[in-house]
Amino acid sequence: MIPMLDLKQQYQELKPEIELRIRAVLESGQFILGPNVMAFEQEVADYLGVDQVVSCASGTDALHLALKVAGIGPGDEVITTAFSFIATAEAIRYVGAIPVFVDIDPHTFNIDPDQIQQAITKKTKAVLPVHLFGQPADMSAIVSICHEEGLELIEDCAQSFGAHVNNRQTGSFGILGCFSFFPSKNLGCYGDGGMVSTASGELAKRLRMLRNHGCNKLYHHELIGLNSRLDEIQAVVLRTKLKQVDAYNKDRRRVAKTYNRLLSGVKLTTPYEDNRGYHVYHQYTILTPERDKVMNHLKDAGIASAIYYPVSLHKQNAFKGACKALTLSRTEQVVQQCLSLPMYPELKDEVIEEIVAVIKDALAN
Ligand SMILES: *Cc1c(COP(=O)(O)O)cnc(C)c1O
Repeated sequence: MIPMLDLKQQYQELKPEIELRIRAVLESGQFILGPNVMAFEQEVADYLGVDQVVSCASGTDALHLALKVAGIGPGDEVITTAFSFIATAEAIRYVGAIPVFVDIDPHTFNIDPDQIQQAITKKTKAVLPVHLFGQPADMSAIVSICHEEGLELIEDCAQSFGAHVNNRQTGSFGILGCFSFFPSKNLGCYGDGGMVSTASGELAKRLRMLRNHGCNKLYHHELIGLNSRLDEIQAVVLRTKLKQVDAYNKDRRRVAKTYNRLLSGVKLTTPYEDNRGYHVYHQYTILTPERDKVMNHLKDAGIASAIYYPVSLHKQNAFKGACKALTLSRTEQVVQQCLSLPMYPELKDEVIEEIVAVIKDALAN
């Protein structure tokens, strides 16, 4: 069986360090927002080159907290993409605002800046791009639109840890950057986790209060907050993996390059790199009109594949009557044809050859 990702193999390599560090946490008796969380926040802020990092319980909470501190609320519109995981737009609804879905670039699958421009109304307060599958969105265009139109820029970096553009990390372009440490992400922990990055000390202060019941002094509550904190066990896993994340991303790029080479000349579309930034391949996603056939062949050969995403967000019942959408014809076409193949740093070239042989066979008959 070839899985979509193999966390067991990675764990075997990290086992001595992680088990030692987890045991130390267990013996310390300190489990929530302790010294490892504080150290991790500093280490990851240094890594990203941002002033402040505030960890929290998930990527979904990171988006929720970010929209809250940005002052987005009922009646406001937030422009985003319909080709993403639901949490991107769900968070917009949490604060009572309306997601406005605009179309994607058909090659990168990222939000199209021209479409953002067309969707701006008097109610628009923010733009929420997703660096989908690990490729940075067109940040220079998006940053200038937000600047000219006076809109807040909040980035969904759940799939782009370590991706950068001109030596600037994703998550450092907007006023707030939202990250997920769900186990399958490029930097993942052993449970749920997330964080928000920001250059603003003021926003960071509010985020720290909001993630912990709105208090800045124990049992003195300034705001209605959430219980959304990172725990010490996740923090030691993340501190261990942060040291490896560049090597992991490099290996993901090696896997993508091998797929590209082996799939050249095959009748399907391999991922497009726009060369504006450094793509970290959270997913390796092809386009093919014969998706069912390819998927079935892979399945019969014991190889996993997955559709990210089978339903675009503007068609989800959860947003019925609670979203706006421009024409999303490119999104709809990509949704019909996209197929993600196994992608993880430990994936060996010989195994990629095996996967590609099955795909070729599927398309040959
Ligand atoms: C995973 C993901 C999230 C949510 O992160 P969780 O940690 O699972 O809550 C948000 N946005 C995108 C694009 C994601 O891929």
